[in-house]
Amino acid sequence: MIFLDAAATTPVRREVLDAMWPFLTGEFGNPSSRHSFGDSAARALADARAVTAGALGCRPGEIVFTSGGTEADNLAVQGIALARRTADPRLDRVVISAVEHPAVEESARFLERVHGFSVDVVPVDSLGRVTEAALAAVLRPETALVSIMYANNEVGTVQPIARLAALARTQRIPFHTDAVQAAGWLPLDTAALGVDALSISGHKLGAPKGQGALFVRGRIRLEPLIHGGGQERGRRSGTENVAGAVALATALTLSQDGQQARAALVAELRDDFIGAVRAGVPGAVLTGDPAERLPSVASFCFPGTSGESVLLELERHGVICSSGSACAAGSDEPSPVLLAMGFDATTAQTAVRFSFDATITAAELREAAAAVRTAVVSVQSLDPTS
Ligand code: PLP
Repeated sequence: MIFLDAAATTPVRREVLDAMWPFLTGEFGNPSSRHSFGDSAARALADARAVTAGALGCRPGEIVFTSGGTEADNLAVQGIALARRTADPRLDRVVISAVEHPAVEESARFLERVHGFSVDVVPVDSLGRVTEAALAAVLRPETALVSIMYANNEVGTVQPIARLAALARTQRIPFHTDAVQAAGWLPLDTAALGVDALSISGHKLGAPKGQGALFVRGRIRLEPLIHGGGQERGRRSGTENVAGAVALATALTLSQDGQQARAALVAELRDDFIGAVRAGVPGAVLTGDPAERLPSVASFCFPGTSGESVLLELERHGVICSSGSACAAGSDEPSPVLLAMGFDATTAQTAVRFSFDATITAAELREAAAAVRTAVVSVQSLDPTS
């Protein structure tokens, strides 16, 4: 099988498993315990926090470990917006882009439904890009927070985060970015990006599912979502997942080692794959920005098919990929991301995403491109309307 669904998840890396193993077995202490087992767990957690902070260019105290990207996004969007409105009741609006992951979008909608906020949605262009002009048009004196993703999980478009964050900063509005898909491929230096909050998730990087982290700049107040014993400096209660934090820190470090060269190499393979798919399926439409896109994502619409059928047919030919995004899987609805980019609902239903990790080879992608042609032709021949 050729696994081309790395944007959905990745296997745990051997080095990561080795690093976390002691904290699942012999060194199983609770970091809050006042004895030697607790102390060694607390040290491991502190080390993991320092390493994570190093990778994100921030201070250890600015890292909150969470149960994954979804929780990090919820904590950023709700936690910052609620804390700001408590400090100033006029701050009752949040800004998100039209292509956010549901973890951000639904957090904003929750603020609207339950807490009386208004949500302003920045539109994207046909390549899925948020422009500075489009963001400037929705910023208001009442905006409590802006949340715009770094790289899109369905089409791979990379946003000009530093420029968008700088724009928000001119109006003193905190800026959060969901960097779950960017991590491992793009620079994550929070100081250079100029963001106030940034979410990452371990399982996209070779750490286990259920582990993430949120960077929150020191001066930004955060209303916690999970209440209890006051762990994570009161920002996220609950006994810390020491092994998970160690895993995330290890995976992040590994992913940053030689990242630029690896990203360039995979981007080249991606472009060859895109060329081969287009040659095999002349009607294929590449979705997302052809240039400013994740090295690891090639996404298409195949008019005259259904994405779901192509996906099944591809699996029969030994290629695993995803139709739309795994996070929205199980729904037959056309992708809101593609609709926001101006695709009609029928075309949006034909979307297929191929996403790779750094182990991908040219030979695998050649084989996959040939399978794409076979699968699309076979699905089109079954569809009486095509
Ligand atoms: N944000 C983006 C852009 C994602 O792609 C995902 C998962 O696919 C998430 C957030 C959620 O992360 P997690 O699966 O760790 O909850």
